[in-house]
Amino acid sequence: MTKVADQWLRDILILLAQNRTVTRAEILEVTGYNPASVSHALRYLTRAGVILKVGKLESKAGRRQEILQINADAGFLAAIDLEGSKIRFALTNLVGDVRYRWEEEVRVGEALDGRRVVHGLQRVFANLSSEQRGRVLAIGVCHPGFQNRDGCVTAINIGWNDFPIREQLVRAYALPVFLEGAHQTYVQAERWLGTARHARNCVYVIVGQGIGAGCFVDDHLLEGASGVGGEFGHVVSDPEAPDQCTCGRRGCLEAIASAPNIVRQYVEATTRGRSKVMREVDLAFLLDEARHNEPTALKVVDRAARSLGIALSQLVQILSPELIVLGGDIVSGQDLFLPRIRTVLASFVTPKLGDAVRITVSSLGLDIGLKGAAAMAFRRSILDSKLLREQICGPIAAMQRADGRKSRKSSADSSSKPG
Ligand SMILES: [Zn+2]
Repeated sequence: MTKVADQWLRDILILLAQNRTVTRAEILEVTGYNPASVSHALRYLTRAGVILKVGKLESKAGRRQEILQINADAGFLAAIDLEGSKIRFALTNLVGDVRYRWEEEVRVGEALDGRRVVHGLQRVFANLSSEQRGRVLAIGVCHPGFQNRDGCVTAINIGWNDFPIREQLVRAYALPVFLEGAHQTYVQAERWLGTARHARNCVYVIVGQGIGAGCFVDDHLLEGASGVGGEFGHVVSDPEAPDQCTCGRRGCLEAIASAPNIVRQYVEATTRGRSKVMREVDLAFLLDEARHNEPTALKVVDRAARSLGIALSQLVQILSPELIVLGGDIVSGQDLFLPRIRTVLASFVTPKLGDAVRITVSSLGLDIGLKGAAAMAFRRSILDSKLLREQICGPIAAMQRADGRKSRKSSADSSSKPG
């Protein structure tokens, strides 16, 4: 009998994890494998209990196509999101559904105690039976700043300088641990579980406290030589602008279009000359004012959208993405920002490229870091053949064999009873 190659299993699992249900014809089309290989792999995965047959689809040719679904709880992933104002922990299944979650506040500007990260994850593991615990494949971590080869993270906002987070998690949980920078994690979440599922060339841009970007080009995640690519916020979008950036320069995109800087410009403009006391305003108030055509709010929104549009047009011109997904605080102002950004893109991008690109907002909300970290950990963990065969394909098959023996035994027991 033909040996089932690991890569066939991986490609089919990834396709199923991304789409939840597929037909055999779709697998053939996407993977390009020959029908015999796909049949072998499907038989293997079905026998292992990782794939379920859930129905039939009437095809055009009149042949009924079996609909295949991934057994989403055949494996679990642990995810940690260290970016943002909270530490978030989650346990997800293979398709990224969050099964258990836990979050803790962190104080801004205070160094994060690594033990809190290790202990916090214990809170989600505590919900699992020992059998389920055995089906956890790996831990994925979405972190701010950057990492070195040894899995040590340096990030100013959590006060870490070469902090050995991977080593600490491996020691505590004896699981493979995969780390990824926040912008790269976000774009992976969008590409595999979100709006960009069908876009092999896509860009995710977060516009919140800061601005950053992650990119897929020809379905490859751009990592860059330094590992700190995606610092899109520090692209200079207006060299003449007086706006001071946290990086020390002036006119960076972030200094004009990040949420705090949008609010700052509005406060400065509406306070000027009237009072020495700065007004207390938040982004929601400003956006509402703009919706009611308040001139200062509109001017600030116009300026931020123009800056974003100019910076994005440079990205589009070079990478030619088919989809740009915006996330973060800007999502709450999409009605104001999207049409303005589209107008700027239309005037700064060559028509052929401009026609090909769509721009939309993220639908993954606050879970984006957790979902991205889990999806990233899933894909990397199944590169390990032992994990793939024993962790994903092993336990369920063993349980089914045990159940089969039990039910055969019980039916034998009942049939042997005197009638
Ligand atoms: Zn800057």
